[in-house]
Amino acid sequence: MLLLEKDAREKLWRKVTETLETYVETVTKAPVAPKLDPEGIRSGLAPFDFEKPVTPEAAIDYTVRNLWEHQLHVSHPSYFGMFNPSPATMGIAAETLAAGFNSQLAAWSHSPWAAEVERHVIQALGRKFGYPEGSVDGTLCSGGMEANHTAVLTALTRHFPAFAEEGARALPGQPTLYVTRESHDTFKKAARLCGLGAKAMVTVPTDNDLRMDPSALQNRVQQDRADGFAPFLVVATLGTTSAGIVDPAAAIADVAAKEKLWFHADAAWGGAAILCDELRPVLEGIERADSITFDAHKWLSVPMTAGMYFTRHTDILEKTFCVTQSYMPREAEGLDIRDPYAHSMQWSRRFLGLKIFLSLAVAGWEGYAEAIGHMNQMGKLLKKKLEENDWEIVNRTPLPLACFVDRTRKDGRSAEFLEAVSARVLASGKAWISVPHIGDNQPCLRACITNYRTQPQDLDTLITTLEDARKNAPGS
Ligand SMILES: *Cc1c(COP(=O)(O)O)cnc(C)c1O
Repeated sequence: MLLLEKDAREKLWRKVTETLETYVETVTKAPVAPKLDPEGIRSGLAPFDFEKPVTPEAAIDYTVRNLWEHQLHVSHPSYFGMFNPSPATMGIAAETLAAGFNSQLAAWSHSPWAAEVERHVIQALGRKFGYPEGSVDGTLCSGGMEANHTAVLTALTRHFPAFAEEGARALPGQPTLYVTRESHDTFKKAARLCGLGAKAMVTVPTDNDLRMDPSALQNRVQQDRADGFAPFLVVATLGTTSAGIVDPAAAIADVAAKEKLWFHADAAWGGAAILCDELRPVLEGIERADSITFDAHKWLSVPMTAGMYFTRHTDILEKTFCVTQSYMPREAEGLDIRDPYAHSMQWSRRFLGLKIFLSLAVAGWEGYAEAIGHMNQMGKLLKKKLEENDWEIVNRTPLPLACFVDRTRKDGRSAEFLEAVSARVLASGKAWISVPHIGDNQPCLRACITNYRTQPQDLDTLITTLEDARKNAPGS
């Protein structure tokens, strides 16, 4: 029953591939955002009590119908959303193969080729970030959350030799890590998960463009140290989630060197700028980071999820994660290899690296440079069109992400108005945008180019939809 008959399997594969092809070809016709209907979804699920099995066709038909109807179509070219991509075709093929072959990435000897593919991809991208040959290490992760958690753990392990065995209570004082208001909240979770508590996070002031102020960082670190705290880590975000802000990595690296802090670059989204000639200078200083977070499931457009953690300290992952277990396979003992389970957070793990490997193998660096360059151009065009239509851009970033308010209305900066505009855009089904609060709690509309298929006409759709929403919003 678990292995379907050969005929049934062939029919199933055909159906699945046809479905995927139809999705790619016609996703533009779907409303971008779904209606939110928990009762409807639950009543559709209720008949699946698993007492009476259904046919594969019925199960797949039910699934496909609901995926179409009940999800935000991040593959839609008018999804101007969070950093979720339209997945690269080779990435989808890779996910399918990885599931079919069911590669197990805990012990190297169970999946030697898969483990080496991941190592190869880590090396290739690590060198792109500017780490010297021979000083690149890293691991695939579930996502940026795990990569940032790994960064905090490796920083603690390096800074406080007692941490791995004795834990946080053995530390000389409250350890502190430095972020800005715009940093990702994964660090708050990581601080909790590491037993430091969210209060270990210190928020460093920013300049007018919301970038971390390096001299404020230095002052705060010195003050904290004088007050008995134990500063150990600073995080530069290279492309913040709300506003695409890029912290000054080189200047932060200087302070980190002087103050002996681990310097982590959270480039979960923005890191892909390294592959585009025009944008590369934006990341200057990233090569000095002790560790880097990069999510291939964002700007490299591979399917969910593929986080990456890079470090130039080639011994630190072992120091942080190495354990040995008698039941784990030992066939590879004596070979020059690393067991992923002793080199990263997860134990049993799927073959995350294949979708990056196959996407890169087929597109090449050049294909990615072109895709990212195109999205960059669309970002510039979007900002231009917004300004021409009397929207005021309120974030300063070289990346294709616009935060904007309405300069034609008295209430054009109010949360109420902006929420109303966003709600109307979503309800139209024609586009998706959001309403973050940036800096000093300033609400704004946010539109980010996340899809390599987005074209000028999709920007026009957004502009038209915004115009309609602005006209129909309550108040004045
Ligand atoms: C997306 C993001 C994260 C979190 O990554 P996940 O893959 O969602 O876990 C962390 N930091 C930044 C800057 C991000 O953009």
